[in-house]
Amino acid sequence: MAAESSFDHLFCDSCGLTQPSNQVVVSRGNPTARLMLIGEAPGANEDALGEPFVGRSGKVLDQLLIDAGINPFDDVFICNAVKCRPPNNRRPSKHELQCALPWLNQQIELVDPWIITLAGATALDVILGVKEKMSTFRGVWQSWEGRMVMPLFHPSYLLRNPSKVEGGPIALTRGDLFQVKNKLEELQNSIGMPMLELDRGHKS
Ligand code: URA
Repeated sequence: MAAESSFDHLFCDSCGLTQPSNQVVVSRGNPTARLMLIGEAPGANEDALGEPFVGRSGKVLDQLLIDAGINPFDDVFICNAVKCRPPNNRRPSKHELQCALPWLNQQIELVDPWIITLAGATALDVILGVKEKMSTFRGVWQSWEGRMVMPLFHPSYLLRNPSKVEGGPIALTRGDLFQVKNKLEELQNSIGMPMLELDRGHKS
């Protein structure tokens, strides 16, 4: 089953977040990309448009991806740990994260990325089971279920800390995404095929 079709039109209310006014926000980007980014949960803009990271934090994210040479439409599959917007943009509860985990695991299985980037502490906890501050984990490669994992500051943290000074969160995240881009190229080269040919038949 293609990743796109199996993610379309999903509906569940197991965690209690789903309301008539809420959309299930599944993903954006390329479901055959070798890179996946996991955030926390949709906010108001994401709920309105039905796609993750389409508000202010999404703009920051896209710009940093582009700066690193990663095309946000073609080179990455973007999703969240939780698929429905928590009220008032609060952090998802443990129960909500548990309910959404099978969806996230299915997305990882179907997309089958080489590299997963974890944007923020919630994604770090959900995937690696780590409750540390992001500042001690970001930029350091981790390994999970045979995949390479790169923790990143969450884009909304970057919005709250907009300084562009060297050593600041934005500059560090830019460096982290360059590491990701370089690793993707290294993996591609080690297989000896250009990225598009690796897209498992989903692209011509
Ligand atoms: N923050 C997230 O973690 N995900 C989104 O989709 C938007 C904001």
